[in-house]
Amino acid sequence: MTTHADSRTGSATTGAPPPASAPPADGRLVYDLSEGNAGMRSLLGGKGAGVAEMRRIGVPVPDGFTVTTAACVAAMRGGGTWPDGLWDEIQAHLDALERRTGRVLGAAERPLLVSVRSGAVFSMPGMMDTILNLGISEQSAAGLAAESGDPRFAWDSYRRFVQMYGEVVEGVPGQAFEDELTALKDRRGVRQDTDLTVDDLRELTATFRRVARESTGHDLPTEPREQLRRAVDAVFASWDSPRAQVYRRLNDIPDDLGTAVNVMQMVFGNKGGTSATGVCFTRNPATGTKERYGEFLLDAQGEDVVAGIRTPRRLPELETVLPEAYARLMSAMDRLERHYGDMQDIEFTVEDGTLYLLQVRTGKRTAAAALKVARDLVAEGLIDKEEALRRIDPAQLDQLLHPALDPDHTATPLTHGLNASPGAAVGRLVFDADTAAEQGAAGQAVVLVRWETTPDDIHGVAAAQGVLTAHGGMTSHAAVVARGMGKPCVAGAGDLRIDADARTLTIGGTVLTDADTVTLDGTTGAVYPGALPLVPPRVTDDFSTVLGWADDVRRLGVRANADTGADAVRARELGAEGVGLCRTEHMFMATDRLPVVRRMILADTAASRQAALDELLPVQQADFEEIFTAMTGLPVAVRLIDPPLHEFLPDVVEQSLLVQRLEAGVEAGVDDGAGELEPARALLSRITSMAEANPMLGTRGVRLTLLHPEIGVMQTRAIVRAALAVRARGLDPRVEIMVPLVGYAEELRRMREIVVATADEELAAAGVTDLAYRVGTMIELPRAALTAGEIAEHADFFSFGTNDLTQTTIGVSRDDAEGSFLAAYLEEGIVPADPFASLDADGVGELVRTGVERGLRTRPDLETGVCGEHGGDPASITLLDRIGVDYVSCSPYRVPVARLAAARARLDDAARDDA
Ligand code: ADP
Ligand code: MG
Ligand code: MG
Repeated sequence: MTTHADSRTGSATTGAPPPASAPPADGRLVYDLSEGNAGMRSLLGGKGAGVAEMRRIGVPVPDGFTVTTAACVAAMRGGGTWPDGLWDEIQAHLDALERRTGRVLGAAERPLLVSVRSGAVFSMPGMMDTILNLGISEQSAAGLAAESGDPRFAWDSYRRFVQMYGEVVEGVPGQAFEDELTALKDRRGVRQDTDLTVDDLRELTATFRRVARESTGHDLPTEPREQLRRAVDAVFASWDSPRAQVYRRLNDIPDDLGTAVNVMQMVFGNKGGTSATGVCFTRNPATGTKERYGEFLLDAQGEDVVAGIRTPRRLPELETVLPEAYARLMSAMDRLERHYGDMQDIEFTVEDGTLYLLQVRTGKRTAAAALKVARDLVAEGLIDKEEALRRIDPAQLDQLLHPALDPDHTATPLTHGLNASPGAAVGRLVFDADTAAEQGAAGQAVVLVRWETTPDDIHGVAAAQGVLTAHGGMTSHAAVVARGMGKPCVAGAGDLRIDADARTLTIGGTVLTDADTVTLDGTTGAVYPGALPLVPPRVTDDFSTVLGWADDVRRLGVRANADTGADAVRARELGAEGVGLCRTEHMFMATDRLPVVRRMILADTAASRQAALDELLPVQQADFEEIFTAMTGLPVAVRLIDPPLHEFLPDVVEQSLLVQRLEAGVEAGVDDGAGELEPARALLSRITSMAEANPMLGTRGVRLTLLHPEIGVMQTRAIVRAALAVRARGLDPRVEIMVPLVGYAEELRRMREIVVATADEELAAAGVTDLAYRVGTMIELPRAALTAGEIAEHADFFSFGTNDLTQTTIGVSRDDAEGSFLAAYLEEGIVPADPFASLDADGVGELVRTGVERGLRTRPDLETGVCGEHGGDPASITLLDRIGVDYVSCSPYRVPVARLAAARARLDDAARDDA
């Protein structure tokens, strides 16, 4: 850490690119609260801009000033060296604050105390540091006691300061202070810190200072301005704390934004029974219901409420205790919600009956709440439908599509806590965040159980199915973080006895360990032993209403990838406008069908092969009938067989082992070998002969069907017969037959001939002349995209198979990449995003654009779609909307996400055109 005096080598001279939030033209690095407003978020941070805005519109806030994010960025770039003049500017603003308040920082009489608060551009609740009561010392504590006539409050503030300053600035482990506090409470035989006397608190302060001295080897600085300088520096540094980094990664927040630092006059919620501190939301952040939602504690300060020091009281109770402050709070909440047109999350403090607001931000909410709030705000006339759509993060909708607890279950709960974040979570108990992160990353379903989560647990929460805590309320850290991530959470389940070291959880007479599984119902707060059955989620009224608005806005069609009738039914319920990809080979894998498929593959005469195919045909037809029925009136693209045939045969190693075992049996005379050995050997040699060095690039897709046209013929017959059968029942099947892995126009020309001849033969035999069907192709090879003009001569539609197209364009195999180098590439920033999750715009995206353009030049009525998993990814959808494909197709549960993302792509585009 450096002082202003040696800051000559600040970032201004390093020649580095300009910081992400460039300083304003006048170069100022500090702003008074009265100079800020909500529009200055990128410079003042969300907290600073929010407090300034409250002041501007007449909501009561403490006075103060804000050090800009630009100052933090400059200090980071300077390796911790502050930019020129920063300290002088801070001091000038402090001088002005002292004049306005008529107080002097740390003075012996009527001291000014301040908070030094982090505040980033994008809210990162609890991830960075804040120091309260700065300016307090032995002498100013006495002054504060004299002024207030309340020595208890003065010493309580002092001990809190030593603890926070010690932790944040000097890096003293927080536990060291907690242990001393607990020890003192034990000695005094009291449970709450509010039960400690003045003398206890004096003693505790001295103890805390000793703890800090022993840990750091020196006394805490006593000069208040020096403390301020170091506190600002520590808040800058907290931008790079591990938990802040994890949070940014989880939320896609850039690392180079930096944090602002807000220096504000302290207001005191710890002045006895007429003072309080609390947190409230203008609507319920779990459900979206319009109600007074929040918690408070009398005689408390700062994070006491969210940290679960004492169990907080529900907001409505404040009305009886502090009626005037309560009424003011209600009107401020109303005012702020109308001002921002959205649900707000608010911090407040009541000092001796007077209300102050300390923070306002857009409230983090569950997806269910997001939909309800958006819908209600439209109904209340606060926002329009388009704005409502902009408010909902498409990726968040995913949460609503997770399985829920079967409402008919009859299990008896072990216990109940607060229903802090809705949804069902099933997992094995894990007692610490690191283990949760580790096991979660390994694909295991775990439930993180903690006495209370802290911001440092964030990586564990992210990897767990759900969170269970013994302590803390609805606004506790665990609850807020879980809601933001859409994880079920049961908080404050008071009768949990947790022994984190022994890894046991005791509830009443039941002892559970990390070998046990529990089920959490975050919607009711119940905790059950074992894994309860889950059922698919239901589509709510809010959901269909808001997605209906999205449908009115979007241009892109949204289909689903569905291989079964059940999938197709589900997809249609979720709003799919057809099936973009039906993979027929999945139908071959079912255990009752696999033996027939193997007989077809292993047949050594045309007749026996045909016999096997004849057996498969009605089975396939039945599957197609189900899908056509579910999708009546909507298009269904059925893809002809794609994978290489050996995928349907046993694994070569397993088969060799079987042969060896049988041979050994024959040698030992146990078996005469006539029965099993010979067929096993025959199968092994067939598997060996079919093995390919690189099956992904081998005999698959259209290559396979051109070699064995009879498979394509059988599949075409099954498709057309299914359509005829469904039509005979008065339904309206819309058939699309899709040829996979075409690289040459000639491949498609030949395959199309086979398909058309077969289909027409079937239609003629049925005497049907008006059943239209279309034949098209997947585009999943770069050559196909580049020669799309020629291929389009034989295609009624293109469907870009962007999974394979990504593999073949980048030249990586997904299965090999994801577990190994791709993870490293992402970590190192060699690639900006996983190209299998989000379409590689410059490479694969350009091929899609080329394919669409060239295809349309040949056939202006060519229909184009995308059926890779990218079809459910919001960023890819934005890109595909601009490229101009007709539709995307994704898994059924991604369909709502795609509908909303497609609408948002339109809105973004309209905004771009306006700009
Ligand atoms: P976070 O980003 O973790 O919410 P804050 O900067 O909001 O951190 O501060 C932590 C706690 O201290 C909050 O409860 C806040 O309301 C309280 N606090 C901050 N500044 C003041 C102040 N000037 N007077 C009283 N309480 C304050
Ligand atoms: Mg806060
Ligand atoms: Mg493919």
